[in-house]
Amino acid sequence: MYSTIHQYKYYKVKLYDLNDEQIEKAKLYSKVSAILYNFGIEFVQYEYQNHRKYPKFFGLCEAMRNFVNQDENRWMKQVPAYTRAMTMKILDGAFQRFFKKQAKFPKPKKIDNPHYSFSIQSDSISFHKTEKNLIRIPGLSGKYDGHINAKQHHLPIDKESKHNFKNARIKYDGINWWLCISFKLDANQEPIETPTGEGFGIDVGLRTAAYLSNGRKFDFPYTMRVKTLLHRKNKLRSAIDKYKNMERKKQERSSSHDENREVQIPISNRQMKRINRYRKTCRQITNIYHTFYHTVSRRIADMYPEWICIETLQVKEIQHNNKRNSANMHEARLSGFLDMIDYKCREHGTKVIRAPKSFPSSQICSKCGNKHKVGSNETYICPNCGLEINRDLNAALNLKKYGIDNPTPYM
Ligand SMILES: [Zn+2]
Repeated sequence: MYSTIHQYKYYKVKLYDLNDEQIEKAKLYSKVSAILYNFGIEFVQYEYQNHRKYPKFFGLCEAMRNFVNQDENRWMKQVPAYTRAMTMKILDGAFQRFFKKQAKFPKPKKIDNPHYSFSIQSDSISFHKTEKNLIRIPGLSGKYDGHINAKQHHLPIDKESKHNFKNARIKYDGINWWLCISFKLDANQEPIETPTGEGFGIDVGLRTAAYLSNGRKFDFPYTMRVKTLLHRKNKLRSAIDKYKNMERKKQERSSSHDENREVQIPISNRQMKRINRYRKTCRQITNIYHTFYHTVSRRIADMYPEWICIETLQVKEIQHNNKRNSANMHEARLSGFLDMIDYKCREHGTKVIRAPKSFPSSQICSKCGNKHKVGSNETYICPNCGLEINRDLNAALNLKKYGIDNPTPYM
């Protein structure tokens, strides 16, 4: 959800008061997207087994068209053509990443996943900035009315920027509907002011959100509110899991004679309530993190440094490791935080240097350059020169050194 990759800025707009008809439509679009996605995977597997080649995007589109034109699938034509084509485009992207060994083989989607999502044509969304923040979404809104109420005051909307929107998707997170959209930044735009401050390295982490190499640090505010929310989240999670395990055991006992049957776990009203509460708590925590990261990155950008040096996190690789799920979330968050610092500084004309993934910022001694493996201690102790320093500050100093040695921005 926090992907601000270089020249794109990512926005999430909450949609209010969708009527029942619109929600039904959205669910249908999402379902058809999932069906087509799964069809695409099967088609590629079939093509590969019989012809030993990947059919590419156009091949996928053609197969999808034929599939939809079959009599029993004609009902899928209610879904806008753009949504159907985009599904294939996304699948094509997933396969391209798989061929480049950046990702695993695409997984089929669950048809009845409660996290509905589908693509929409970003060019034909119309925004009405003056009229009570209304939005018109093609396919969802009716022909003449059906404006959707949305908080969109922070979107960069004017007549010229309309074509700069890309990759629009509608998503449902279990509580609210969202419009997710990326905005293409103008690379040639003149910076507002000339940055004059001294450059520095920034280390991001969980203990201290950001530690600057000039000694300034931003701690995450573990207030009572955050602690309560985290506690509630853990309690609800374990209650949900407990119920699930109990039901699964019950089901297995009753249907032990036929093992091939898929075990369907019923969801009671109580469990549904728990799940909804859990989702809400997660969202509240995420929102707090989000706001905090936005504030800190803005403060860093407001120092107007000439350049900054930040690290590149290895989010992709860690995501495959399912056991460390909570760690993944933190990594994803930190990576989003780095992206925020990145684009906010760029807007101010600050040069952003990204140390590559292989740069061991936490292992090098910032005084003598000796490199050794460190544990999870808070202080860094160098066995070579005896330097004792805060671990995050040490990493920030290393990043500063990297920035001085490699003045060209690493893309
Ligand atoms: Zn040393």
